Amino acid sequence: MKYDILIIGSGPGGYVAAIRCAQLGFKTAVIEKYDRLGGTCLNVGCIPSKALLDSSEHYHHAVADFRQHGIETTGLEVNLPVMMERKNEVVKQTVEGVQFLMRKNKIDVYHGTATFVDAGHISIEGKGAGKTLLESKNFIIATGSKPMPLPGVTIDGNRVITSTEALNLNRIPRHMTVIGGGVIGVELGSVYARLGTEVSVVEYFDSLLPGMDKTLGRELKRALKQLPFKFYFNHKVTGTKISGKSVTTMAEDKNGRKSEITGEICLIAAGRIPYTEKLGLENAGVKVNGLGKIEVDDHLRTNIPHIFAIGDVIRGPMLAHKAEEEGIFVAEQLAGFKPQIHYHLIPVVVYTWPEVASAGYTEQQLKEQGIAFKTGSFPFRASGRARASMDTEGLIKVLADKKTDELLGVHMIGARAADMIAEAVTAMEFRASAEDIGRISHAHPTFTEAFREACLAATDDRAIHI
Ligand code: FAD
Repeated sequence: MKYDILIIGSGPGGYVAAIRCAQLGFKTAVIEKYDRLGGTCLNVGCIPSKALLDSSEHYHHAVADFRQHGIETTGLEVNLPVMMERKNEVVKQTVEGVQFLMRKNKIDVYHGTATFVDAGHISIEGKGAGKTLLESKNFIIATGSKPMPLPGVTIDGNRVITSTEALNLNRIPRHMTVIGGGVIGVELGSVYARLGTEVSVVEYFDSLLPGMDKTLGRELKRALKQLPFKFYFNHKVTGTKISGKSVTTMAEDKNGRKSEITGEICLIAAGRIPYTEKLGLENAGVKVNGLGKIEVDDHLRTNIPHIFAIGDVIRGPMLAHKAEEEGIFVAEQLAGFKPQIHYHLIPVVVYTWPEVASAGYTEQQLKEQGIAFKTGSFPFRASGRARASMDTEGLIKVLADKKTDELLGVHMIGARAADMIAEAVTAMEFRASAEDIGRISHAHPTFTEAFREACLAATDDRAIHI
């Protein structure tokens, strides 16, 4: 079988690339190693984690806030198997949706591990199905990533686990140590902390969410302290030791002082690494860098001109929507369009409560680049909508160019930040100034008014409600 475009991996990068390729008239096929389409995101990432975050948040609200709303409850209990089953159903429906889209767009789907035989052919080895050989004019590698292992830490899938197992626990642990205070660590830590688990987060850097604007990590730490969270910052994990029903995580601070944290489960959430096993990149002559990431140029082309790579397997943030943008980018480029991706405007969202969201440059990046900027911020405690729903934690901070007033970065922590960041991205894509946003009507009472107010604050300190 000969294709115009053969895509390896059916995660958000691969399946979205396939749909756009098919829309543009290319004869397209997707190869997926597992029986189910959707990759990490749909099966063991974005979707199941958000399902559990939503369920655990409902429980937490019922326990912590309902009484103040005048709602009395008794006998509240968590039924973890039901919670997991609902999550599994959400995943199943989402995966089925992707299968439907493949059929609708007449995309051929092969299940099995794809290996380059040479730069023009792929062999697929499926479960007991023997080998299939496919030929294509172009290839898109979208094979994603896997959890990063840590020296001294052996993952046994029971006491020492990755996010994949954390999404499928059959009991609520009394104590969980989370290695890594990044997005996955704080999200999955939140799920279990809301259900009553004591969660100890061990983070190498000095704050949560170390890659994001410093204000966000600081505010999030304050918010999470209301749950049974403990934090060990500036600590490097040196190993784990399983003994019976417990696991001890050994860590060391900057001064060499050692700590041991013992609990029921240790979750490794220290980052992810590109996944290229069994892909046979060497047979096609495709180069990877020192970190194992496939090297691509600005057109997402590897060193072999008709082989492209997208998503977690290349440089850039490991995010589903980044992978999707790149899939569309490659498809449109092959069709002769001139697409663009503004990487600094790809939003980053953390689905804790309060939610955290960010787009554009951080204050630290602007300082490093020597760009003069002004800031404006607005706390949710000054928002009528936030007071009505008792979501007064957090703030929106905007960074605007000191001379031109152009918005350069927007960083928010608060209720519905995950959805509100879209307005900031739109504004920055259209190169709006802070004053532009300040002059646009925002419905009252909504959380979005806080964005307008933060922009007004950056415009000659003109915020109305602070
Ligand atoms: P993947 O989704 O990893 O898909 C790659 C696919 O390629 C896999 O299905 C794999 O089986 C297949 N494959 C690999 N090798 C082969 C081969 N040789 N042959 C055939 N098939 C192969 N991102 C967000 O934007 N928002 C979130 O809320 C979010 N939450 C997350 C929560 C967790 C717990 C985790 C782990 C990740 C989360 N992410 C989130 C990150 C997101 O899942 C990834 O960025 C995204 O899935 C990357 O997409 P991809 O297409 O590059 O790769």
